[in-house]
Amino acid sequence: MPTRTQILVKGMVQGVGFRPFVFGLARRRALKGQVLNNHIGVLIDIEGESSTIEHFINEITLNSPPLSLIESVERSDNLDLAHYQDFRIVESASSGEKFTPISVDIATCHDCLTELFDPEDRRYRYPFINCTNCGPRFTIIEDIPYDREQTTMRDFEMCAACRAEYENPLDRRFHAEPIACSTCGPQLSLIDASRDGIEIENLEPVDRARRLLLSGRIVIIKGIGGFHLACDALNAEAVERLRQRKYREDKPFALMASSVEVVREYCLVSEAEEALLTSERRPVVLLERRTDVSIPEAVAPGVNTLGFMLPYSPLHYLILENLDRPLVMTSGNVSDEPVCYEDEDAIKRLSNIADYFLFHNRRIHLRADDSVTRVHEGREMILRRSRGYAPASVKTAFKYEQQILACGAELKNTFCLTRENYAFLSHHIGDLENLETLRSFTEGIEHYKQIFHLQPEVIAYDLHPEYLSTKYALALDDASTRIGVQHHHAHIASCMADNRIEGKVIGVAMDGLGFGTDGRMWGGEFFVADFMEAERIAHLDYIQMPGGAKAIREPWRMAAVYLHRALGDEFLNLNIPFVQNLDRCAWTTLRRMILTGTNSPETSSMGRLFDAVSSLLGLRNVVNYEGQAAIELEAIAKRQSSQRYEFEIKDDGKVISAESVIRRAVEDLLNGVSPAEVSAKFHLGVAHLICAVAHNVRAEHHLNRVALSGGVFQNILLLDNVCRMLRADSFEVFTHSRVPTNDGGISFGQAAVANARLISGRI
Ligand code: ZN
Ligand code: ZN
Ligand code: FE
Repeated sequence: MPTRTQILVKGMVQGVGFRPFVFGLARRRALKGQVLNNHIGVLIDIEGESSTIEHFINEITLNSPPLSLIESVERSDNLDLAHYQDFRIVESASSGEKFTPISVDIATCHDCLTELFDPEDRRYRYPFINCTNCGPRFTIIEDIPYDREQTTMRDFEMCAACRAEYENPLDRRFHAEPIACSTCGPQLSLIDASRDGIEIENLEPVDRARRLLLSGRIVIIKGIGGFHLACDALNAEAVERLRQRKYREDKPFALMASSVEVVREYCLVSEAEEALLTSERRPVVLLERRTDVSIPEAVAPGVNTLGFMLPYSPLHYLILENLDRPLVMTSGNVSDEPVCYEDEDAIKRLSNIADYFLFHNRRIHLRADDSVTRVHEGREMILRRSRGYAPASVKTAFKYEQQILACGAELKNTFCLTRENYAFLSHHIGDLENLETLRSFTEGIEHYKQIFHLQPEVIAYDLHPEYLSTKYALALDDASTRIGVQHHHAHIASCMADNRIEGKVIGVAMDGLGFGTDGRMWGGEFFVADFMEAERIAHLDYIQMPGGAKAIREPWRMAAVYLHRALGDEFLNLNIPFVQNLDRCAWTTLRRMILTGTNSPETSSMGRLFDAVSSLLGLRNVVNYEGQAAIELEAIAKRQSSQRYEFEIKDDGKVISAESVIRRAVEDLLNGVSPAEVSAKFHLGVAHLICAVAHNVRAEHHLNRVALSGGVFQNILLLDNVCRMLRADSFEVFTHSRVPTNDGGISFGQAAVANARLISGRI
């Protein structure tokens, strides 16, 4: 007796070869019916013996395709028979509720790579080869459901050979929406930047571009989510030239190497790091440099790591084929602006930087920078979550009451939309400091709302009144509920949700700057926190930041005010290089500013204290990118050191003074102790302080879990020490993994806090 069952599979099931997989299963078991994508997942309608149907359903969950992720399987049994004659894959149904996860962009798979380098294959050396298991996704999708007509591949009419593969359920390219070949698909063009964008007649643009790179030229390469500025990483002159033209003085460049073996020539690569390098998401992985090999200083000045990635598009594989040296592959943008993704825009904005453009005519619908990640204690710790990761949702242990839009912070902005148990944390938007970036923020939000069919009724935002993301949230002309979330509460909530924990924790937020509930700039904070609220237990003592934002760019200002705080005007007599080199005139102005309180906001930021110590050691008086002074302070620290500076905890444990630390550091410098040793003692001192405060909070509040968050914890030396020392004191320690510890994780935390407040009704 045949029966009929309908099965609805939800999760990451579209664009990942799910329908052909179901087709194969049904055919093998001689079941009849149909399978289709609808707006919530894959719908299977099946007729046959009930025991066969049971086996079929089991097999769906057991052997699902590699890129799929099943969240749920719902079924309705014993339906009226439809008397299907065979099993078919039918066109997508486009009505009803729209919601289905969208696949991330995926690096070229093994099968496609084999074909790419097989002279017998019809796609031999075709730079846009892809299949159901790999290729661009998120960056080419204009709308859902995921069908070729809704992607930028609609510009290309499939040839007969491609169409045959596309329509054959047993082919690896069945319904591979970006399917293409050299007859019908996108093509490359090589353009000479000095000749007003004129295309160079060249039948071998890849070979030509490769030769140009190896001869020291700067070539812009259009990739998956944007453009890269590329040059030979071992050609110091070319790297310098790229820096000068891009106005990027010191920020490390990312590198691309043809294989892990090449990466190993420059860096130490652990097993976990190798797994990240070769994962289909293909992030940039920050790796510890080998000390016995040199690479031009201009690649990554002043840091002890290099950011490496492996090729992820067929074009990359062709350009780096058998290349024994890395290429610089840095985002194709003018300093601080978002990465270019439209050809004309790139020519307009980047002609002064590049010598040549290697373009293709597949449009990028949504730009996505390379993701940046690293390994901490064997676990991934993402620092910039973008291509390959977004728009995959971050699953949370709790369910969001309502759809929320969280607008994030100002720097390293991301936004976050929620639905059920999913947080759709956006790709990296960038620093919301110019119109270009603001535009990609607002357009990004609209795009996510459209493709995930979300209509958020709740808007969460940072308390800083000057953040463009905050202004956006408050200016929205609708009836949404607005929920303001303190910056560091968002950091701690982000870490908790990242680790799927709930309830109260000891929250340690060590950060650059965030607006506090007292109107001052916080950043060295200890809380007792849950998703609902964060009670501030202790903080670094306030100190002035003369010049406000200028004090962030000029760490010498922080060093001077800390010295003044610790030693008074006497500090001017100190026989240390920082003081000897201090511009007395500038100091006089600064001194007047802090004494009269002119343009000198107060801060409790740990990031600013790192800046101060870095400058005090003579490392950096002015920074060229965010966090540079602290990064260089970490880089020089002596690794094997056991001595530390002691902070003073005052006011019943509520206020932490760094004066003693500054005084001890000065004494050491006067006694000829090396900056490497001073940096190490400072790092250990901060780690010890965190443990000491956590210890006190535990005694009083009976909490044993510590959540660590904020940009300062990108400092691995500090993070390692803190984790080790806390565990030695039997604490349970939670650090970031799936979501950045820096401000890229703020929107995710805002959404968690907003949700808790919605549930409690205390908004
Ligand atoms: Zn493939
Ligand atoms: Zn074709
Ligand atoms: Fe922050």
